[in-house]
Amino acid sequence: MDLTLTPTEEKFRDECQVWLDSHVPREWHDPAFRESLTAGDKIAFLKSWQHTLYDGGWVGLAWPQEYGGRSATLMEQVIFNQELARAKAPPLINVLGLIVAGPTITVHGTEEQKRRYLPKILNAEEIWCQGFSEPNSGSDLASLSTRASLDGDEFVVNGQKIWTSYGHLAQQCLLLVRTDAHLPKHQGISAMIVDMQSPGVTVKPLRQLTGDAEFNELFFDHVRVPRANLLGAINDGWNVAMTILMFERLNTASFLEIQTKIALDELIDTARRTLRNGRPATEDSLIRQKLAQIYTEVEILRLSTYRSLTRFQRGERPGPEGSIDKLFWSETAQHLFEVAMEILGPQGQLMKGSKWAIDSGQWSCQFLRSRADTIAGGTSEILRNIIGERVLGLPRG
Ligand SMILES: Cc1cc2nc3c(=O)[nH]c(=O)nc-3n(C[C@H](O)[C@H](O)[C@H](O)COP(=O)(O)OP(=O)(O)OC[C@H]3O[C@@H](n4cnc5c(N)ncnc54)[C@H](O)[C@@H]3O)c2cc1C
Repeated sequence: MDLTLTPTEEKFRDECQVWLDSHVPREWHDPAFRESLTAGDKIAFLKSWQHTLYDGGWVGLAWPQEYGGRSATLMEQVIFNQELARAKAPPLINVLGLIVAGPTITVHGTEEQKRRYLPKILNAEEIWCQGFSEPNSGSDLASLSTRASLDGDEFVVNGQKIWTSYGHLAQQCLLLVRTDAHLPKHQGISAMIVDMQSPGVTVKPLRQLTGDAEFNELFFDHVRVPRANLLGAINDGWNVAMTILMFERLNTASFLEIQTKIALDELIDTARRTLRNGRPATEDSLIRQKLAQIYTEVEILRLSTYRSLTRFQRGERPGPEGSIDKLFWSETAQHLFEVAMEILGPQGQLMKGSKWAIDSGQWSCQFLRSRADTIAGGTSEILRNIIGERVLGLPRG
């Protein structure tokens, strides 16, 4: 493993730091400011932030120049992701456009699709969602049953998707549909781009444990989609889905590793300010041991992520080993927020909106939110199966 930055990369990292230092909105660092935003204000704020990044030339760094990127290296994209997290910058609102739809269109899209969709992903003019999961097809995605049948130059789509993040904000959806029910299940699937304003699309937000509604049910009732919106060849959607998974893993590993480290630093700071038996929680031997355990897990996560990045740098395609990073990150994040709840004691029950909540209730919110981490993007059970069968070569269970 060698992730020593070259002099050019060091210069690039310094350039990122200088730019972020003068552009990250300071108010975002104040949990009270973040909690004070209404849902509508938050969307407007995040869209404006992505536009600022776009104007500075920092969005879609590794995308080809002709479609608005900088044709930067993967390592430069990773460096920028890490610096964004380090600067505690607001998140990119069009995250699914940037890590899922855009790179996939770059690989499988027609020239017309690239010119039509890519620039509007970068400047957040069009938000994207990913319509894969269905009520009866999550882990076993290939069993999906939303169907699309050709009628002239259009597909007619009928069915239901669920857990669609950003569906309530999205203008475009990257949808997986069954286009041939007679072929084996992995072979009869196609990927297509669906305009969310099309007649027959209904979006119903789902409220989560945290009180937020980040994901949705999508209903498709005779929705007409131009044949030209097919992404890749007909019935080749499984191949497109695998490209998507690869980009998802590739882009998120380094970012999540740094985010977890930052959350740990913030937790240690909170522990210093929180009294336990009349003394700062950081002086309690049990809490110290638990924080040390999380510190060790975060360090293992960093090294495991670096191992994956080294493989990418050497030109190897991301393999099933990527499951280790996702599994380890999600479980480490849950341990971290469980320890946060223990440190806060009864005050950990107070949610955002309560004036007595510590750090504006962000810990209780993140504790509840982190339950989703071991489900979204592949459940821990499925990842353990992949690691067992495809990394360790154990017999199928
Ligand atoms: C926060 C969040 C955001 C999401 N965003 C999106 C999105 O934008 N777009 C989208 O399409 N989907 C999204 N999802 C859905 C996510 O991909 C699915 O929830 C996930 O794939 C699991 O599918 P499922 O919920 O249907 O559970 P199921 O597949 O029904 O699994 C139920 C339980 O059975 C276990 N299980 C299933 N099969 C096996 C097996 N073979 N061996 C062992 N155990 C097994 C699972 O681990 C799980 O514990 C999101 C989910 C969450 C939580």
